[in-house]
Amino acid sequence: MTAAALSLAQAAAGFDGESTAAGLFAPFEVPVALELSLVGVLGLCVGSFLGAAAYRLPNGLSLAKPVRSFCPGCKRTLTAAENVPVLSWLVQGGRCRGCKMRIPVRYPAMELCTGALFVLAAWLGRDLGPALVAVHALVLAALVLASAVDFERFEIPDEVSIGGMVLGPILSFALPALHDASPVAQALTDGWSPGLSVDRFGALVASLAGLVAGGGILLAIGWIGKRVYGRDAMGLGDVKLLAAGGAFVGAGGALAALVIGALVASIAGLVNVLRFTCFVRARARQRGGRRPLLRALAVGRIAGRYLPFGPYLGMGIGISLLAWDHVKTVLG
Ligand SMILES: [Zn+2]
Repeated sequence: MTAAALSLAQAAAGFDGESTAAGLFAPFEVPVALELSLVGVLGLCVGSFLGAAAYRLPNGLSLAKPVRSFCPGCKRTLTAAENVPVLSWLVQGGRCRGCKMRIPVRYPAMELCTGALFVLAAWLGRDLGPALVAVHALVLAALVLASAVDFERFEIPDEVSIGGMVLGPILSFALPALHDASPVAQALTDGWSPGLSVDRFGALVASLAGLVAGGGILLAIGWIGKRVYGRDAMGLGDVKLLAAGGAFVGAGGALAALVIGALVASIAGLVNVLRFTCFVRARARQRGGRRPLLRALAVGRIAGRYLPFGPYLGMGIGISLLAWDHVKTVLG
């Protein structure tokens, strides 16, 4: 709804042809702080919807019916006062008003995270125009949803990954500026020079190249992993997620996303193994025994190894999407 309002505002700005107001709500002059606050509130509300979607999608429930949120414990439809992002959770002490069932901290966390990401996208994209910022926000919301489901169930919903693989090329064609920084799109655009936008055909090819590169490289890594270790090293969900991300960030962006994701995942994996190791040692001490560090480490390594890759991959895709230009400016 707001995306439509944004493009309406943009159309109006183009229509009178002489609007000087910059920012997301042009031609209306809106102070930056107010602009970012509005975007943040929108993000909180989208995050609230994503929380419901993260519960409904993997359970095979419809996103549309029932429209209103309900408590999974007592199946009671939530009132408007129970549906306020973050605040309701805080006021109710993290429990359902009806059945006192714990509401996982995942819900307010997703709301805060989406709100913060929307503000960041709006802040970093102030010069890009509302349409691009809306697409960035859409991709970030999808990544939050995919990460939440992957953390909990070790799977990535096809609605996100395959949806992104379909939507990426379509939006790239509709909004070529998505791939303005792509060397592929620049090379395919007739008479392109720095500062100019790429054309639709170039953007479409850049998107498809990103899709193939993102999916292809993870498929290849999975294939090699299977040869070397004799077991499935890469989930197909991750392959589809990076293919979908690549359709938005191009081949270079997909590669950067993979490198960033693998780096952060390695650190997270290491922390997780250490956490389990400490846990094993503490428990042994509680029972009055001792667990030699190496033995505890061996147990921790097995227990702490199982981390989903999707959230880290998603983080990489988000960074590529928002900051690739900035990273290239810093490097170059
Ligand atoms: Zn309840």
